[in-house]
Amino acid sequence: MNLVDNDVIVVVGAGTAGIASALAASRRGEKVILIEKSASLGGAVTRSLIHTLGGIFDSDCNTINEGLTVEFIERLRKADSSTCKRKIGRLWTLVVDPETYGNVITDWVREESNIQLCKESTITHVETRNNSVVEIELLHEGMKTTVRPKAVVDASGNAALVRMINDELVILESRRAAAGLIFSMVVSDRQRFSFPQNVALLRTIRSAVQQSILPIECWSVWFDTGVKQNEVYVKLSVPYAIDQGEADDDSALNEKVHVIRDSLVTFLRNSSLLLPESKIVTGELGVRDGFRIMGEYCLTEADVKNCRSFSDSACRGNWPLEFWDSERGVSLEYLPTNSHYEIPLRALKVCTLNNVWAAGMCLSAEQKAQASARVVGTCWAMGEAVGRAVSNG
Ligand SMILES: Cc1cc2nc3c(=O)[nH]c(=O)nc-3n(C[C@H](O)[C@H](O)[C@H](O)COP(=O)(O)OP(=O)(O)OC[C@H]3O[C@@H](n4cnc5c(N)ncnc54)[C@H](O)[C@@H]3O)c2cc1C
Repeated sequence: MNLVDNDVIVVVGAGTAGIASALAASRRGEKVILIEKSASLGGAVTRSLIHTLGGIFDSDCNTINEGLTVEFIERLRKADSSTCKRKIGRLWTLVVDPETYGNVITDWVREESNIQLCKESTITHVETRNNSVVEIELLHEGMKTTVRPKAVVDASGNAALVRMINDELVILESRRAAAGLIFSMVVSDRQRFSFPQNVALLRTIRSAVQQSILPIECWSVWFDTGVKQNEVYVKLSVPYAIDQGEADDDSALNEKVHVIRDSLVTFLRNSSLLLPESKIVTGELGVRDGFRIMGEYCLTEADVKNCRSFSDSACRGNWPLEFWDSERGVSLEYLPTNSHYEIPLRALKVCTLNNVWAAGMCLSAEQKAQASARVVGTCWAMGEAVGRAVSNG
């Protein structure tokens, strides 16, 4: 593939935020190079099996951000009639099969002739001059290519690009949020896994943990009905207490969490809750809290809780502060009914760098503020806002 190499918008990461950035910039006539290190698009949603998309609707089930979000929902619905709105507690979500999500965004990117997609590609060098990124060298299809970007968007989820420029431009956190492993399985009686009937099952699991039949991580296991018939999603929460320096290497943790999954599956099979032939599909270990960038503004926990507005509002968020503490488990702090906070564009602009932006999970925010802003709907809206901003700039 010959890459357009001058005056392009380079987007790093083809997860939710990166896709939205690329689409928004492309729709404004910009040439975009979308770089993804893996072989597939969709990031955490497709690879970690997220099926309930939050941060899209308000309490009356209307979208909180306009623009591409609306088109996105329409495309997901058109592709798969099982895509639907669902209320979980007091929150509306969009339920979608992660595979459908992956197919829809892949087709959408393909339709946009302004986007050049570089899958399985890595950035090998970033050159800055006068506080701007002037060259990016990437390894694509076995060849090194140099592109000269007009603007760069770090949508890697873990500030991978910004760390390459200057690792002092990321926020260091001593305690990381717990990671999660999600797997889906087909069961004979889905009702037994659905609330409130699943309370009996959860008690049985906790009792097995107390008797050391199951590992401690199964104490906080969570079940949810899936998208397909008789499908159940299982979510395991895992402490993510490794040092910041090791953040890109999760292999030891991955190994540990797969052992936990296997013991739970064996337990469910032995309890006849799973058919012997039941297929298990396991996602990748999902990191909720990677590195966040230092932006021109840092969205605070108080901004989120006080539903703050900003004159340079990029988009809106309304998901509760859903923080997964490694020891204490999940806590949820809700915003008042039908309220939202705004994310300023400055929280998506990397400080001291003229043409470097960020979107999605690695926005500039305090940990508890990110615990709200990291959901799919908000990441999509941030990505879109940055795509618009770089096109105007
Ligand atoms: C366990 C778990 C459960 C969750 N549950 C929900 C839920 O129920 N509802 C909800 O709305 N949200 C949920 N989320 C949050 C949500 O899925 C993510 O926060 C959101 O998808 C983040 O989008 P993103 O685009 O910022 O990052 P990602 O989706 O992580 O995308 C980043 C992309 O960048 C790529 N990348 C990384 N480094 C590089 C590099 N150096 N070069 C090129 N590419 C790179 C990655 O491969 C990836 O494709 C959950 C998250 C986790 C981890």
